[in-house]
Amino acid sequence: MGLMNMANGASLWRGYEYYQDKKVQAIEPINESQFRGSVAGSQAQPYDVLIDIEHPRKSHCNCPLADGRRIICKHMIALYFTVFPQEAENYYKEVIAYEEEQDRIRLESEQIAQEQDNRLAACIERMNKQELQEALVRLLDEGPEWQYNRFIDMYVDRKREIEEEYFD
Ligand SMILES: [Zn+2]
Repeated sequence: MGLMNMANGASLWRGYEYYQDKKVQAIEPINESQFRGSVAGSQAQPYDVLIDIEHPRKSHCNCPLADGRRIICKHMIALYFTVFPQEAENYYKEVIAYEEEQDRIRLESEQIAQEQDNRLAACIERMNKQELQEALVRLLDEGPEWQYNRFIDMYVDRKREIEEEYFD
């Protein structure tokens, strides 16, 4: 599994931002698959980062999150993107494509809900009194108890109060 696949979504995005902000300094290739670099972080001293493309689990960084653990942190990702800018570009395109897809899905379901509302309103408009009464009784009968009680509160009790007042 590649370095990027082992990182979580937040580390990927933060790593991308670090790459964009040029927080990676002093890159030094060790061999074909290992690269060393220092990455400016929250501490005054930059972190020492080593990434191993061939064996991502051998990567390390002395930040509090990754030190002594087999975790792919944002500093490693930042270094990786700095060494392979094309990967950073591909990653960013994927993020944008994903967000556009999410927007599209959200818009589509809003449109479907809106159409349904319109159909419902048009249908109620065309129902006669008897149909409306039957539908109401059925809804109250089949619906949850709170709905039934709410209807009693809102209409039945209130109607009785008004009548009592009127006939007093
Ligand atoms: Zn780190």
